[in-house]
Amino acid sequence: MSNPSSNVLSDKLGATARELEDSNTLRLPCRASCVVDLTSTAQLPDISALARSAGGLVVLGGGSNVVLPAVISLPVVRVQLRGIQPFQAGSDAWIIDVAAGENWHRWVDFSLSRGWDGLENLALIPGTVGAAPIQNIGAYGVEVASRIESVMAWNVAEGRMETFSRRECQFGYRDSIFKRAPAGSWIIVCVRFALPRFWMPVLGYPDLARRPELSAADVSARKVFKAVVEVRRAKLPDPADLPNAGSFFKNPVVPAERVEALHAQFPGLVSYAQPDGMHKLAAGWLIEQCGFKGRREGAVGMHQNQALVMVNHGGASAADLRNFALQVASTVRDRFGVELEPEPVFIPGKLAA
Ligand SMILES: Cc1cc2nc3c(=O)[nH]c(=O)nc-3n(C[C@H](O)[C@H](O)[C@H](O)COP(=O)(O)OP(=O)(O)OC[C@H]3O[C@@H](n4cnc5c(N)ncnc54)[C@H](O)[C@@H]3O)c2cc1C
Repeated sequence: MSNPSSNVLSDKLGATARELEDSNTLRLPCRASCVVDLTSTAQLPDISALARSAGGLVVLGGGSNVVLPAVISLPVVRVQLRGIQPFQAGSDAWIIDVAAGENWHRWVDFSLSRGWDGLENLALIPGTVGAAPIQNIGAYGVEVASRIESVMAWNVAEGRMETFSRRECQFGYRDSIFKRAPAGSWIIVCVRFALPRFWMPVLGYPDLARRPELSAADVSARKVFKAVVEVRRAKLPDPADLPNAGSFFKNPVVPAERVEALHAQFPGLVSYAQPDGMHKLAAGWLIEQCGFKGRREGAVGMHQNQALVMVNHGGASAADLRNFALQVASTVRDRFGVELEPEPVFIPGKLAA
């Protein structure tokens, strides 16, 4: 980052050195020497030039699904593009363009206030709209992929805008073409949503299915939204009180033969059949069985009520999180023969200041 062309570009983009501790929900201390706030797509060509000259780029939304190192030497782009634009009303869907820097939960709330139902099950997920397609956020039986028409993203290496249809995004469970791409390859600038004009509630999850107000004939998307918010507030630690990044591991997906063998050996095993014949294992259950629920090692630990949520009790570093995650994963592997994969993205950089 010290060559003259980088410096000129950094100045033009208004880049500054920043501490990012307040910009990630795990509250990991992190110093970045070059932070650019992306507020206009007109900045993108200069950002591509900066990335070329620095040898890479880190993209940051709300910082709720990242593990930040102590020092980031690559330029960091904080996506702060704003705007919500109804595009057209199709015969079966409302089509709306939402800029990547909009806050996810506020967008969900706003969409319902306009009568664009369909995102209510995804209420209260932290972060930005632009990050939602990255890992195909999901909760309470809905994945965002089912509500996306297309994604507009800046190709950083080639310096051009590209549009990905839903199919081209290659969405999977907590996965997409963007999540698999090398870090800093794409900057998502806008998500085009297709929200159903003829809404049907999705109430399959036990936490929602057993609520009387949702089984009545006058169930509405707003009622589902309120229920989801209540359930999440009751169950999940608020990062403002106890820093965390939500689920720290994905639920492992295994074939039917494997789940049958595991059920024979561990009758209490929690698993969910998937439409494609595979089975999702509840990672929280596996972790709990290994005695990690509520276990703390130094500054990090698994939450006392949510075995899947790793928390920073204060003063933790990316190295502490990584070491604890490796310990959890290797214990689960030894006991169940199942691999756990972290859900948050480990951002490259120096682990010690
Ligand atoms: C308390 C809590 C609960 C959560 N619950 C859920 C849940 O129920 N379901 C769920 O799926 N997730 C959940 N999460 C995870 C997280 O909220 C989501 O993954 C969210 O989409 C991350 O958004 P963000 O803006 O904070 O992304 P960041 O953490 O800033 O970034 C995440 C990744 O996306 C990349 N990225 C971000 N924005 C862009 C962009 N515009 N263009 C290109 N790349 C980008 C980053 O480089 C990084 O790789 C939870 C997290 C917390 C803390």
